[in-house]
Amino acid sequence: MIAHELDLAEEEFELHCLEADVAANRVPEGVRRAMYPHELDSRINFVAIANETTRQGERLARTLVDFRSEFLALLLADISRRSSASEIAASLQRLPLYGISSIPQVPGAVEQAESIVRTAMTDIALTAAASVQHEAALQGVTIPALSALTVFGEQAVQVQAARVVIGPHLELAKAVTDAVARLPQTTQIEEVLAIARRSALELSVKPLENLGRQAAASSIGIGRVDAPTTTDLLPRRFASELLDSNTCTPCERVDGTEYFDELSLRHDYPRGIYVHCEGIWQCRGTPLYVWSREF
Ligand SMILES: [Zn+2]
Repeated sequence: MIAHELDLAEEEFELHCLEADVAANRVPEGVRRAMYPHELDSRINFVAIANETTRQGERLARTLVDFRSEFLALLLADISRRSSASEIAASLQRLPLYGISSIPQVPGAVEQAESIVRTAMTDIALTAAASVQHEAALQGVTIPALSALTVFGEQAVQVQAARVVIGPHLELAKAVTDAVARLPQTTQIEEVLAIARRSALELSVKPLENLGRQAAASSIGIGRVDAPTTTDLLPRRFASELLDSNTCTPCERVDGTEYFDELSLRHDYPRGIYVHCEGIWQCRGTPLYVWSREF
């Protein structure tokens, strides 16, 4: 009975702390645990991170929608140059291998898109690094600003940008290829074009919104991981997966983990988000640092 009452009291206290965190605007709505002491000590602002992820994610998603339109235009122009439905089908079969694309302009367009996304992701990462600098200042510690990403940060951005950009292209190529493959060989080019255009326009923007959000979350994480490299002062480092109904099981498991060196943190957050995360754009995880306290 006493143990049961203690459990209830603990639950009530936890709920009280969570309500206080929400009321103080430290965590977004929907979070189902109170902040840990090390999270409070780190002075991290999860609400600001969540808002920034949404804002930048929407921005990146709009860029991805533009890339998809550009790719569609190249695709339709290529289809209109072919002389038969079977020739179109053969050409489309090679399309997903964009590196050796059957459309000469595609690799250049993909490269340009990657460069635009890399620049946007780098800006987001540097802003996130500045917010870690601000958290350090709130803890009473001065760390120099990060003027450019480290090699780790740059590589992480490069890998993630390539993944993000190829998504819309592959999805569009597949939708058009599948639609055209169902047509009889005798179909007129005009009709193939109309079907290709229609199948592309029917694609949802949802996957691009998710990709944009993933890229934003990743950029923020990359900047946060890079931020403490400007100082010799050693922080305590933690994985912080603010749990809500969307948090995936691997992220829930890593939540609260302390890393005793930078390498092991980078191993778990190689692209700014937890390496085994299955929720991708839904999870809220990020590394955080505590300099201020002796534990
Ligand atoms: Zn996750």
